[in-house]
Amino acid sequence: MPVCKNCKEEWTWGETMKKSFTLATGITCPYCDRKQYLTASSRKKSSLSIFLIPLVMFISLLFDNSSPLFLFFLIAIAALVMSLQPFIMELSNEEEPLW
Ligand SMILES: [Zn+2]
Repeated sequence: MPVCKNCKEEWTWGETMKKSFTLATGITCPYCDRKQYLTASSRKKSSLSIFLIPLVMFISLLFDNSSPLFLFFLIAIAALVMSLQPFIMELSNEEEPLW
């Protein structure tokens, strides 16, 4: 789970999920109210993991699998990738450039 670089408090999974769905650049710490930013490396890891979703969809096209069960499988993969985001996240006090 991500740890706030300012107050060293560990965020819970639920808080992190809730905060990461806001599209603001910074995420406000629920403990000290200071803005935290994702580190460049965790942003890269996170975009790589999200890339898994279209990849799985593309592979599924190769197998011409149109059963409702397969759609459920795709949704499960997407939900799994999303729920893993708090484990990948690392926080920083400053906004880091990606490159
Ligand atoms: Zn904090």
